[in-house]
Amino acid sequence: MKRLENKVALVTGGGRGMGANITKRLAAEGAAVVLTYSKSAEQSEKIAAQINAAGGKALALKADSAFPEEVTSAVNKTIAEFGHIDILVNNAGIYIGKAFEAHALEDYELIMAVNVRAVYAAALAAVHHMPEAGRIITIGSNMADFAGGAQSTLYVMSKSALSGLTKGLARDLGPRGITVNLVQPGPIDTDMNPANTELADLLRSRMALKDYGTGDDVAGLVAFLASEEGKYITGTALTIDGGYNA
Ligand code: NDP
Repeated sequence: MKRLENKVALVTGGGRGMGANITKRLAAEGAAVVLTYSKSAEQSEKIAAQINAAGGKALALKADSAFPEEVTSAVNKTIAEFGHIDILVNNAGIYIGKAFEAHALEDYELIMAVNVRAVYAAALAAVHHMPEAGRIITIGSNMADFAGGAQSTLYVMSKSALSGLTKGLARDLGPRGITVNLVQPGPIDTDMNPANTELADLLRSRMALKDYGTGDDVAGLVAFLASEEGKYITGTALTIDGGYNA
């Protein structure tokens, strides 16, 4: 029997970047997976179709994480389709990188909406339908613990907020056997942080392991946390950054 057989997972932003790796990995481990997207419709539908063609179960839904009602709706549609949610993976995220003097208040609204409020909204909608041994796994960032450079104030702030959310929720939901954790990747080769730039060379020079990670590296950790083997880990942050923060 596969590790996540009979489990239902929802992965926000699951059609692109490391979210796509997480979607495919959870499906390969036997879970039925609902993935959301805001812009990447074609890519997301394609991944869902590939999983279904391979004998798995997947559904792609449009849900812009900037709007909490769309996140809630995606959770409700998952429950309508599959009955409950065992594994919630809050992966969708954005980066706003610019000099602080160039910021506008709208930048705050947007990054907090996508990176933080959507996580809260998804958890709030999902917990009513999450059985014992449920899992809430959020993708934060190693930058929450070490900003490492300029022009990342909002991103670092938003990812740090996830630490409090994770710890508080772990306490709230622990009595129900639900675990809540934060996965904090370092440099991972995606559209958000391509491995072939000057910035990438600088980041590599600061790592203990001198190379970028892959979406599959993160997906492996998420699958472990989602599985029975991860049952005693809760309320914590697991940093997966090639030793960048060491
Ligand atoms: P990408 O930019 O490659 O992908 C971002 C994903 O988030 C896409 O699936 C995108 O879907 C989705 N997304 C963005 N905005 C929204 C929105 N408003 N509503 C719904 N979905 C949205 O980034 P990564 O894969 O690298 O990032 C995934 C997560 O990992 C993020 O939370 C990011 O902060 C975090 N992270 C990334 C690191 C890296 O080095 N790459 C390091 C540390 C953390 P769509 O195309 O449909 O908008």
